[in-house]
Amino acid sequence: MDLTHRPRRLRRDGLRDLVSETALQASDLIAPMFVDATTDEREPIESMPGHERVPVSEAVARVEEIEATGVESVILFGIPESKDSRGTRAWAEDGVVQRALRRITDETDVFAITDVCLCEYTDHGHCGVLDDGARERWERAETDGGVATSERETSLTVDNDETLELLGKIAESHAAAGADMVAPSSATDGMVGAIRETLDGAGHTDVPIMSYAAKYESAFYGPFRDAADGAPAFGDRRHYQMDPANADEALREVDLDVEQGADVLMVKPALPYLDVVQRVDERTDQPVAAYNVSGEYAMLQAAAEKGWLDIDAVARESLLSIKRAGADLILTYFAEDVAESL
Ligand SMILES: [Zn+2]
Repeated sequence: MDLTHRPRRLRRDGLRDLVSETALQASDLIAPMFVDATTDEREPIESMPGHERVPVSEAVARVEEIEATGVESVILFGIPESKDSRGTRAWAEDGVVQRALRRITDETDVFAITDVCLCEYTDHGHCGVLDDGARERWERAETDGGVATSERETSLTVDNDETLELLGKIAESHAAAGADMVAPSSATDGMVGAIRETLDGAGHTDVPIMSYAAKYESAFYGPFRDAADGAPAFGDRRHYQMDPANADEALREVDLDVEQGADVLMVKPALPYLDVVQRVDERTDQPVAAYNVSGEYAMLQAAAEKGWLDIDAVARESLLSIKRAGADLILTYFAEDVAESL
């Protein structure tokens, strides 16, 4: 046996770290947190073990817990006290995210990112203003107890262009309350440009935009909808979010967002779309973020609860894979646990 090449020579302890191609750092991780205006106490989220919705009064304490693990950045989601058809509480000066942000930026050094969308604030749960036809179908469904329309008809839900102005208002209100970066997630065509223009017009030229550029219409978001109470009341989001079958289209979405001024480009979800993460990373010089979503978290937690997986090992391996695929930033519910283990 004459083997010249033996890759295992490099795998010995002492050497393996020297030749390791990818390293996870706590500073790569962004921890999502949920601020809830409907509660005075922390409420556990059943489908996401270890995560809670917190009232505004607990927002600073929650951030301090996250920072204690070494994670330096959070992304805030809000559950408002009330919802309406246009989601007006999303840009209210005394809105739940705005109030929490003021406290967080006054009292901590965390880098505070905000999710910019309407689905948690609209009574219909869609990520924008309803298109007239969709509104009519929904009202009919409410009175008749069912949506008796064709699938093709129900796929159209949100009026794209009317939504743009509202997204600008939300982003501006977040920036005014101290957001360090805004992250539009509504998958509205033109959202990055509209938000950039509004922010610049209001003097927030230094607030970067992390765009959910390639956001798929994914079944892996399920547990998040428990957490943020943002499930659509009718229909689904396949009109505005991307078809999981497409990857070339993700590059087109990314190009459009770069043209409109996106500073960071996100792919969501992460693990089922690592090919997309890699292609986006190859396509652009901008930093790439990947969102390791609630379903990716919940399925590992469920298997670990049954004793079928070692949660610490699979969490780390998941994040390492996302980074290896090309993500610079990772939004993940594992942020605190993994950061602590590093
Ligand atoms: Zn949304």
